[in-house]
Amino acid sequence: MSVQVVAAKMAEVELKDVPSKELATVSPVTPKAEEQAVIKNEPNTAVTSSVSPTSESTPKGDPCPLTASPNPVKMPQASAMKRTDPQQNGGESFVNRDGTVAEAPRMKKQIQFADQKQEFNKRPTKIGRRSLSRSISQSSTDSYSSAASYTDSSDDETSPRDKQQKNSKGSGDFCIKNIKQADFGRREIEIAEQEMPALMALRKRAQGEKPLAGAKVVGCTHITAQTAVLMETLAALGAQCRWAACNIYSTQNEVAAALAEGGFSVFAWKGESEDDFWWCIDRCVNVEGWQPNMILDDGGDLTHWIYKKYPNMFKKIKGIVEESVTGVHRLYQLSKAGKLCVPAMNVNDSVTKQKFDNLYCCRESILDGLKRTTDVMFGGKQVVVCGYGEVGKGCCAALKAMGSIVYVTEIDPICALQACMDGFRLVKLNEVIRQVDIVITCTGNKNVVVREYLDRMKNGCIVCNMGHSNTEIDVASLRTPELTWERVRSQVDHVIWPDGKRIVLLAEGRLLNLSCSTVPTFVLSITATTQALALIELYNAPEGRYKQDVYLLPKKMDEYVASLHLPTFDAHLTELTDEQAKYLGLNKNGPFKPNYYR
Ligand code: NAD
Repeated sequence: MSVQVVAAKMAEVELKDVPSKELATVSPVTPKAEEQAVIKNEPNTAVTSSVSPTSESTPKGDPCPLTASPNPVKMPQASAMKRTDPQQNGGESFVNRDGTVAEAPRMKKQIQFADQKQEFNKRPTKIGRRSLSRSISQSSTDSYSSAASYTDSSDDETSPRDKQQKNSKGSGDFCIKNIKQADFGRREIEIAEQEMPALMALRKRAQGEKPLAGAKVVGCTHITAQTAVLMETLAALGAQCRWAACNIYSTQNEVAAALAEGGFSVFAWKGESEDDFWWCIDRCVNVEGWQPNMILDDGGDLTHWIYKKYPNMFKKIKGIVEESVTGVHRLYQLSKAGKLCVPAMNVNDSVTKQKFDNLYCCRESILDGLKRTTDVMFGGKQVVVCGYGEVGKGCCAALKAMGSIVYVTEIDPICALQACMDGFRLVKLNEVIRQVDIVITCTGNKNVVVREYLDRMKNGCIVCNMGHSNTEIDVASLRTPELTWERVRSQVDHVIWPDGKRIVLLAEGRLLNLSCSTVPTFVLSITATTQALALIELYNAPEGRYKQDVYLLPKKMDEYVASLHLPTFDAHLTELTDEQAKYLGLNKNGPFKPNYYR
């Protein structure tokens, strides 16, 4: 079943006004689902499609509006694009998936990793840290302080691995900090549900239909209230889930407890060691009588683990859904090397997710991160933002709105011109470095703020990074004998020069918002909905629709994710008239933008 069929079935219960014969015309593989859109590399090249203009503008295979909202939302078509590795081509090149129905064997090749000789049969020991061949990913160590946790102050130092716990139904198939915290966790989950309208809508629309019936999803993501809403949605859609944390710090213990109490097999707690981290992942997959057939990963560690330890599992796995930059990059590498043995969906590069993660999320969380760590007042402060991409634009907009005087640095004349048109002074960093109160990096680049600039900053200057991992500020250059480091708060260091000047370094140069603030639930709702739809699509796709490659979520489903969030705002979407649709050469139900639109 394609997603639109699945979603149509889910919608049926509410489609009182849709004639049943129309619904019956939907076949599992509609011609539309196999339509081929060829996107050329040139930015302005129009989409050419093998589907005739007539069929494109006649929504015959797409009859199932989700009529719950006043603005009917049409079902997305399943025609994912395959994107070439952005690392190789700058992220600009898009090609279509070829759409042919081929009997591709699931296990293409024996999977081999460069470091495969490492012995993996050894059970990780509690003290044998870093006994594994590769260290855990950046995402698993980037500190991420999720929503307020009631349980951080727990003085129970016993490792969850040494505890025998059972939920109220007698199941002990989980490993978490403390099952007694389940009630607190349930409240957190209920709060998150308020801001995750699309997942709640999917649940409601599923009702009797179970598009994930039989799906056995093994997941490795942040275990937070928002993830819990996703997991409970997947379960409502028919899936069984086993879950580990993708980050050793980010688990909300009480949420993990609520999930365990609800019958989910969760293996995670806040403050895992690296050894615990891999042990938890292993407990998710290495279990008697249960084998995953779908992977939902954030960072690629789970996928990596299965590739290394249980490659045979891929015979049953129908697809991988990956959300992080790092994990997606690894998948493209595997694909390029011909070692990817199942289809994978890159949800990280979905337009809707990108806009929310980069622009809107950073617009909100930059202020939160700065305020929580420094209590700084923004009005009148001079701030320099390095990089005017999505993240930079979000930061600049927020700071400007608070009355800060904002300077921008850029290397790209187009983004530089945008900064000028938005009313920001474009400068070189060395021109303002002596006078600014706050320096924020958002470039995705390395060594943007180097020691020379740090030396010239004024006393009290706040320095932080919103861009790539921990590469943008040359923090290592500050670890020299003449400088004194003073930890003044969690994630806040004063670095003091011999003359007494001090700068305020936040999160040791790691991502400020992920380390020191929370991410709005609504942002995570977009991501979680994208993940859920990607799972449904891969799980239900007929054999051959997706090959052993990395795909983007079909544009139409990206639009569908956005549309599911519109009712929250009582937003009224305009529908194309037939005449307008014909004039623009669009299907009335979308997609409304070409595939290269970002
Ligand atoms: P982007 O490519 O749209 O923007 C980066 C900008 O920086 C570009 O315009 C580029 O020209 C400019 N740039 C590069 N090197 C520079 C330099 N030396 N000096 C000045 N400008 C320079 O990317 P984006 O979407 O804005 O993301 C930026 C980074 O933030 C990425 O690493 C991304 O992974 C990360 N990110 C962070 C968060 C978060 O929550 N903090 C969210 C999403 C993305």
